[in-house]
Amino acid sequence: MKLKMLCAVACLAAFGSGLAQAQNYPNKTITMIVPFAAGGPTDTVARLVAQSMGTTLKQQIIIENVGGAGGTIGAARAAKAAPDGYTLFLHHIGQSTAPALYRKLPYDAITSFEPIGLITDVPMTVVARGNFPAKDMKELITYVKANKDKVTYAHAGLGSASHLCGMLLQTAMGVELTTVPYKGTGPAMNDLLGGQVDFMCDQTTNTTSQIKSGKIKAYGVTTKTVVPSLPNLPTLASGALPNFEVGVWHGLYAPKGTPKPVVDALANALRASLRDPNVIKRFSDLGTEPVPTNQATPEALRTHLKQQIDLWGPIIKKAGAFAD
Ligand code: ASP
Repeated sequence: MKLKMLCAVACLAAFGSGLAQAQNYPNKTITMIVPFAAGGPTDTVARLVAQSMGTTLKQQIIIENVGGAGGTIGAARAAKAAPDGYTLFLHHIGQSTAPALYRKLPYDAITSFEPIGLITDVPMTVVARGNFPAKDMKELITYVKANKDKVTYAHAGLGSASHLCGMLLQTAMGVELTTVPYKGTGPAMNDLLGGQVDFMCDQTTNTTSQIKSGKIKAYGVTTKTVVPSLPNLPTLASGALPNFEVGVWHGLYAPKGTPKPVVDALANALRASLRDPNVIKRFSDLGTEPVPTNQATPEALRTHLKQQIDLWGPIIKKAGAFAD
């Protein structure tokens, strides 16, 4: 009884201080952790959303790139940050695949975070260096199979979307390739442009302008339907790889314990950013679109994350790709 009373007093105090915190929130610069290198696809999404959210919240949101280990280093940093609304964490599908890929993680993908909302679901594209010999996906598969000891596949580390897509591609093609990990597909793209690596599967938010400029070759998109901004690029599923489909959903989180009124203020600002004509236009130019705003809520992200963990766990275990 006494304990219950104590909790009631402490909980009320915590709630009260949460409210007080929320009333003058935000009163200083907010940091958004992106768990990949600057200049990559997740960084691009984060910078667009952060700028627009910052306008709504009347405070600047700066991006901190904490790349490495497929997003898990940045996730660990975000999980340990003070739960005061001044550290946010933007991650993608990797938040749901890492628990199955890593035997031990220094955080829990679900319980270490407060979900804020879903943001966008970005298509991926299979792309290669400009002078890669294959002219379409069928030829790429034939070439890769015939040269599997020398072809290199670039990705952003175990747990990244490019790694996941590469794993699915290798399974679908029936080959095992030499893979080259980077801290993000931003730096991987630089090496693809320079011809140091052969091919990768990466988000349209990173590949669209390079495909359009003709500096890299594109072979297919991983969505069910063609992406309007890349109308000439066929879907993988319609050609050489029937049923091949993967999208890179993104979500925004805060560390566990961030007061609910603060989370609500952030979710409101997130929804406003997804209605921002500039964000919609830039997303569209980059081959994607915001989720419907009723998905940009803590409940929708919480449900989606759990579903995705349940979906990918068995697929990854079957593929047998683990890190220690
Ligand atoms: N989204 C990552 C990045 O921004 C790449 C990946 O997940 O493959 O670099």
